[in-house]
Amino acid sequence: MTIENIIIVGGGYAGVKIAQTLEKKLVGNNNYRIILIDKKSYFYHIVGGPRSAIEHINNIIPYSHTFKDMKKNAVHQSTVVRLEKNKVYLDKPFENSIELPFAYAVLSTGIRYPTPAKTKALEADTALAEQREIQSLVKKANSILIVGGGPTGIEVAGEIREKYADKKITLIHSQKQLLQTGIPDKPRAQILHKVEKNDIRVILDDVVELSNELIEKSVFVPQEPITTHKGQKLGSVDLVMLLFGSRPETEWLKDTLPLSDNGFVKVKKTLAVDKEGFENVYIAGDIADIKEIKMAMKTQGHSVVVATNIFDATKGKKPSKIYKPNTTFLMGISFGKKQGYIFTPLGALGDWATSKLKGKTLFTDRTWQDMNLTEPTTTNTSKNVLSNEKVFSTTSLTIITILTLGVVVLGIYYTTTTTA
Ligand SMILES: Cc1cc2nc3c(=O)[nH]c(=O)nc-3n(C[C@H](O)[C@H](O)[C@H](O)COP(=O)(O)OP(=O)(O)OC[C@H]3O[C@@H](n4cnc5c(N)ncnc54)[C@H](O)[C@@H]3O)c2cc1C
Repeated sequence: MTIENIIIVGGGYAGVKIAQTLEKKLVGNNNYRIILIDKKSYFYHIVGGPRSAIEHINNIIPYSHTFKDMKKNAVHQSTVVRLEKNKVYLDKPFENSIELPFAYAVLSTGIRYPTPAKTKALEADTALAEQREIQSLVKKANSILIVGGGPTGIEVAGEIREKYADKKITLIHSQKQLLQTGIPDKPRAQILHKVEKNDIRVILDDVVELSNELIEKSVFVPQEPITTHKGQKLGSVDLVMLLFGSRPETEWLKDTLPLSDNGFVKVKKTLAVDKEGFENVYIAGDIADIKEIKMAMKTQGHSVVVATNIFDATKGKKPSKIYKPNTTFLMGISFGKKQGYIFTPLGALGDWATSKLKGKTLFTDRTWQDMNLTEPTTTNTSKNVLSNEKVFSTTSLTIITILTLGVVVLGIYYTTTTTA
């Protein structure tokens, strides 16, 4: 009997969680195998990205132990370039073919963020080299301009300030307040106060004009003085870090699937694609057109729904688990290892709690555990990163659990999924 493929495109927080959940559900079922496809050779723990701007952090994690059974199931490094009914096309062949047929597919290709929040490097060695290069540029610069006052820009500013008390740091943001539209005013004011208290100059409601070439570079040493759109002079700037502009990784789907104006994939309540003929294709994570703040913790709820619906379908049952968007405002912004806020619906937790719950480790150790590995204790060699031995396997308890615990302690219980 031929074994059918369940493919997962995008091995980020959502893809890995769904792959591992489905593997558990399908134990003993030899009709299906799971193939997780990512263009990178490694899992990039994005939450650790801002700290990689100033020092080594183990946020480049091998996929070597993603599945318990790596013989039956597989992780394949390839960029998926096209989706058709019941098959995808790869840029690197799997079992000698660039056409990969599937019985079920999950698409979870995430959002593109600028380096160092994310990295474009396909190989771990290159990603590590890029991180070292940025660390060295930050170390050398006396005056740093960070463009983009969303969570990423703020976190990078906090990391730099904690390590380098004397550097001049300027943060420029296009909106009238830090953070993004949709976040309540109070947290936005609180975070502004924190940033300014740390001797960071904040320029709001203004932008710097940059060529596309510079935008692509994302971190660069400016060759000429920088002036803002409104004419403010920024003085001497030795390093510019562009930390704005995120867009969904869905260009490869635009000819096949229904996308919203800003590129997110339209889904049904079951998280299946909203298009006839693609009922066996599910969407999870940041690329889903769901009205909620895009966060790794939200992918937990998506994963339960998608894995259950695919499992039910393999049993001949109609997929019936539906996803209820999680609109609870819960967001942790670390500002170095010791400061930050966790914003909850009942108010903000301050430096101590944020440091304990997020800032100190940025969940790096737990993410290694989720990948069925142990975080290396010695750092800074790619050999170390790539040859880690499996020590124990654990079910996911990442960001979501820690932050959710905080909310549970405060007496809030929020259900993200219901069954139709
Ligand atoms: C600096 C920063 C800090 C953050 N901190 C937090 C936090 O503390 N808590 C929180 O909950 N959220 C946080 N987030 C948000 C969180 O990182 C995202 O919501 C999360 O990454 C979404 O997961 P995902 O699986 O949808 O996508 P991703 O994790 O981005 O994974 C997508 C994967 O798809 C792969 N891919 C893309 N295109 C293709 C293709 N065509 N073919 C093959 N593979 C492809 C990529 O290589 C990538 O591995 C943070 C984000 C940033 C930028």
